[in-house]
Amino acid sequence: MKFLAGKVVVLFRSVLPLMIAMALMGGIYVVIHWSAEQSDAVATARQQQLVELVISKMQGSIAHDQESATVWDDAVRMVSQRWDREWVDSNLGSWMHSYFGHDGAFVISPDRQPLYAFLVGEPNESNAFNKIAPAALPLIDALQKRLSAQDETGTSDQILSIGESDLVRIDGRPAIVSVKPIVSDTGKIEQQPGREFLHVAVRFLDGDFLTRTGEEYLFDDLRFSAAADLGKVRSYAPIVSRSGETIGYFSWLPFRPGADVLKAIKPALVVSALCLLALTSVLTLVVRKRSMRLRESQAQLKHMALHDPLTGLANRVSFNQLLARIVRMSATDQTNALLYLDLDRFKQVNDTLGHPIGDRLLVDVARRLMETAATADIIARLGGDEFTIALKHTQQEEVEKLCDSLIAAIRKPFEIDGQIVLIGLSIGVAVASGNDADPVDITRKADIALYHAKSAGRNRYAIFGPHMDELIRTRRELEHDLRAALDADDQLEVFYQPVYAATSHEISSLEALIRWRHPSKGTIAPDVFVPLAEASGLVDRLGALVLKDACSTAREFPHIGIAVNVSAVELGQHHYAAQVLSLLGQFGIEPSRLELEITETALLDEAGVCEKNIAALREFGVRFALDDFGTGFSSLGRLQRLEVDRIKIDRSFVGACDENGGGVAIVQSIIGVAQAKGLRTTAEGVETQQQSEILRDLGCDELQGFLLSKPMSKASLRQLLGNQRLRKYSQ
Ligand code: C2E
Ligand code: CA
Ligand code: CA
Repeated sequence: MKFLAGKVVVLFRSVLPLMIAMALMGGIYVVIHWSAEQSDAVATARQQQLVELVISKMQGSIAHDQESATVWDDAVRMVSQRWDREWVDSNLGSWMHSYFGHDGAFVISPDRQPLYAFLVGEPNESNAFNKIAPAALPLIDALQKRLSAQDETGTSDQILSIGESDLVRIDGRPAIVSVKPIVSDTGKIEQQPGREFLHVAVRFLDGDFLTRTGEEYLFDDLRFSAAADLGKVRSYAPIVSRSGETIGYFSWLPFRPGADVLKAIKPALVVSALCLLALTSVLTLVVRKRSMRLRESQAQLKHMALHDPLTGLANRVSFNQLLARIVRMSATDQTNALLYLDLDRFKQVNDTLGHPIGDRLLVDVARRLMETAATADIIARLGGDEFTIALKHTQQEEVEKLCDSLIAAIRKPFEIDGQIVLIGLSIGVAVASGNDADPVDITRKADIALYHAKSAGRNRYAIFGPHMDELIRTRRELEHDLRAALDADDQLEVFYQPVYAATSHEISSLEALIRWRHPSKGTIAPDVFVPLAEASGLVDRLGALVLKDACSTAREFPHIGIAVNVSAVELGQHHYAAQVLSLLGQFGIEPSRLELEITETALLDEAGVCEKNIAALREFGVRFALDDFGTGFSSLGRLQRLEVDRIKIDRSFVGACDENGGGVAIVQSIIGVAQAKGLRTTAEGVETQQQSEILRDLGCDELQGFLLSKPMSKASLRQLLGNQRLRKYSQ
């Protein structure tokens, strides 16, 4: 529904400008049309007035024409005293037709008898009079009355005699009939008022009148019709007699300036409307495209803000939001689970194989997580090699099953650029029911469980339980105790494990190994507290303690070399080389007697500080050994880039150097490469006679292990080295 409404809004938005443009054009058209109609109406009204004016002018001019012959002494005489028909015809009759264009002329006696009759198209005089009589007699009557009453109204310098005129229909034709008395112009001929002879003029208003008027006043197709047709095409002006009777209509094709203008501008109007529509459409399209692009980039920004750009998974921000939502929407009896995932040994991959491979590994890991936890509600990458998965409304057994499959999925080898990469996965799980729902608390618990899983060994999962809080506390306590141990002088002790030459069986060097005798917890292995020291910033002090002890031991046994383990954290300190050299100087130890054991990770730190320290120390003769060789990710080919003097073959390969172990081939190839590079080799963790023989036969230079000697206190060492017999191990 919402979606549909959204669609409608989008549609409406995109057609709205078009609609506005169309409405605008419509509006403009209506206004133009309206003004055109208005001007047409005004023009029509003018033309109608003009018709009336023309008719009344015509009436006036007929009367005026008559006066030219009727106000005349000769005429009075000719009609009243000495009737001369010929004279009458040429002055009052047919002459008026030929000169003024009148259609009829009549002379009427005071007794209203027609004395002379002329009507166009009617040769019979009495017929002619009969035709006009119905229209003329009332006028004659009216004029005689006025004459008797000597009514002079309307006369002036221009109008010399009174008269009566009307619009009438004669024989079905419209006409002006005008009656004038025949009077003396000088006033010398006396006539009895009311007994004057009268002159009647007739002018038909059809025929040539129409033609002439049309031409003169520009009426188009001027016509007479008995009735008005109320169609729109023609204009009509009624011809109304004095009595108010409409005797017919003039009609013409009206002059419509508005319509003409409209007609003239219509194409332009249409073209501009089309242009406007096209323009609006284009603009709308452009704007729509722009806003679509804007929306897209906004969506992209939003996606970027909420997703990890590398894997495309949700990021920490959206994870927190989603988790809070899941928790909020859970009922008390529903169980949610949060999994914290951390890749085992990812850092090593990243450091040894480089970031591009590390990134691709993360992408592949994300894919496997998604495939394996397809039903999960959230899969997010929090950063680095940390991922989270959230399951809502689940059961613990289901979570356990998922953890198993996730670990199995990540343990399978990854192949990147032809390289086989092996990593592991540790998972911390927090399961919370709806009523125990605080996202922060669930997150904290999953994190603690993860820590627990990691310290219990890799490739496992741990579900949070109250005892885990205890574990964190223990770790904090241990850190506190280590700090105290560094201050005290009786807890940390450096042990030494002799390393023997494989052929001569003589002790060639001693490896310094730190020991911690905790006052209440007993001996704690360096595997446990060295990483703790690294994490809590105590490793510098620890390292310095060991190095100092090693220097004093070296001074005590001047013929034997001394090996010291260095943490990558220490080696990454700028002043490390200077510190070592200064200590060697203090104790008067030849730098070439010191061998520092480093792991592969130290060789590839981003800032390159480790490498600089190594280079500086090597310059002074300090030697380097690559510890635990084979467990990291350095392929044999990679050795070329490493500035070391020795390889320490890891215990795990040495342990496999039995008659049925597969380690021989690996060790053989390691030794082969080392020899080719001019590097010495030490085998670590030699525990059996057989191993020692195999290793010696393979060409290994030095051997180290419980078989030959365990790490020992300095006191035991003094005993061992003091006893010449024990300085060699027996075969
Ligand atoms: P690592 O450098 O590989 O040291 C050799 C470890 O192997 C020692 O364990 C040693 O006791 C053990 N070992 C020697 N021969 C045998 C054998 O035949 N069989 C078996 N199973 N183990 C043997 P340790 O002393 O517990 O040290 C563990 C690790 O702690 C060391 O491994 C080293 O990485 C680290 N470490 C020890 N001392 C120091 C130190 O002073 N500084 C630093 N940074 N790390 C140290
Ligand atoms: Ca070592
Ligand atoms: Ca080692």
